[in-house]
Amino acid sequence: MHIRQPFNSRNRLNFSGGPGVLSDCVLKETQDAIMGVPGVGLSVLGISHRSEWFADVVHEAESNIRSLLSLPADYHVLFLQGGATQQFVMVPMALAPADKAPPEYLETGYWSAKSIVEARRVAPIRVIWSGHDAGYRCLPSDAELSYSQDAAYLHYVSNETVEGLQFSRVLGREDVTRVCDMSSDFLSRPCEAQRFALIYAHAQKNIGPAGVTIVCVRDEIVRQAPHDLPSCLDYRTQAQAHSIYNTPPVFAIYVVLLVTRWLLRDIGGLAQMDRFNRAKAAQLYACLDGSGGFYRARTAGADRSLMNVVFNLPTTELEHVFLQEAAHAGFSGLEGHRAIGGLRASLYNALTPDAVGELCGFMVDFQTRHSH
Ligand SMILES: *Cc1c(COP(=O)(O)O)cnc(C)c1O
Repeated sequence: MHIRQPFNSRNRLNFSGGPGVLSDCVLKETQDAIMGVPGVGLSVLGISHRSEWFADVVHEAESNIRSLLSLPADYHVLFLQGGATQQFVMVPMALAPADKAPPEYLETGYWSAKSIVEARRVAPIRVIWSGHDAGYRCLPSDAELSYSQDAAYLHYVSNETVEGLQFSRVLGREDVTRVCDMSSDFLSRPCEAQRFALIYAHAQKNIGPAGVTIVCVRDEIVRQAPHDLPSCLDYRTQAQAHSIYNTPPVFAIYVVLLVTRWLLRDIGGLAQMDRFNRAKAAQLYACLDGSGGFYRARTAGADRSLMNVVFNLPTTELEHVFLQEAAHAGFSGLEGHRAIGGLRASLYNALTPDAVGELCGFMVDFQTRHSH
């Protein structure tokens, strides 16, 4: 029989935009739990979602997220299915009643554009800023934004995963319900969660495998939602059932629990996670900026994402060669999103500073060999 090494499957460094990298210790604990959850003696893949054990898993995952975000007691933490894409419709279904002024949306990149298309199927909405015609190369300044006081809510995406644009401030008015898609930077930094009425983030970029979406929502929002929504698309049903309304993704939620434990115990919280993430991004952007124009970062200044570093080489041909050589050298997931091409290095929480160092080393070497 072929005996595999514990991390044999992981001898490549994973810079994928999503599903993203997970830490070695979380993978090891996941591996153990697949064979038998400690103290339970059953595989995590086959434990009933109605078991006491799973109720405890949901409870602890929820309380870890509360403590990481310092979330006030009047928020629900829900574990839902359907991805962030399903939130694109659940949000307007719950928050955009016909008797209110339309919700306001920011179109800052690929994912917010998708959210707008979906929301429009449910309710009239107003786009108050769009970077579409400029190719989504920067985010709006405060001076470019004017919000209405009576909007049903404001929706924006905190980190545009495809273009590599990230807000480093909270947008909107304090007296208007604020909703944010944090799918690709959730739990990567402190985020002033109490200023948002609703935050959603699927797990597979930064905090677990695909299959579960975390929603932190203020109780007031849940109580005000219409009463005639389909139950599985209604935050109220999900909150009342403590995320166990129908069969939930037990495995994905369990891995999210392991990741939150890792954030609390091994990393030491979100301020510390933010320091690591800033250092990683600074190193890679310095490598791009210091290349004399060989590597060109897609974005500049304060809008640059700490999570997704998007860049180009002088020609598409050279980008192909880069990807081939990078794959050969053990770097995976560096191709840009199919919508815009180019290259993208995603530096999610679990990507180590050493991995960034190795990538920079490879890039310097590649440039030496290919610039003449
Ligand atoms: C990846 C991504 C999505 C899409 O999420 P799904 O879970 O595939 O529906 C939505 N928003 C953002 C910001 C993303 O990065």
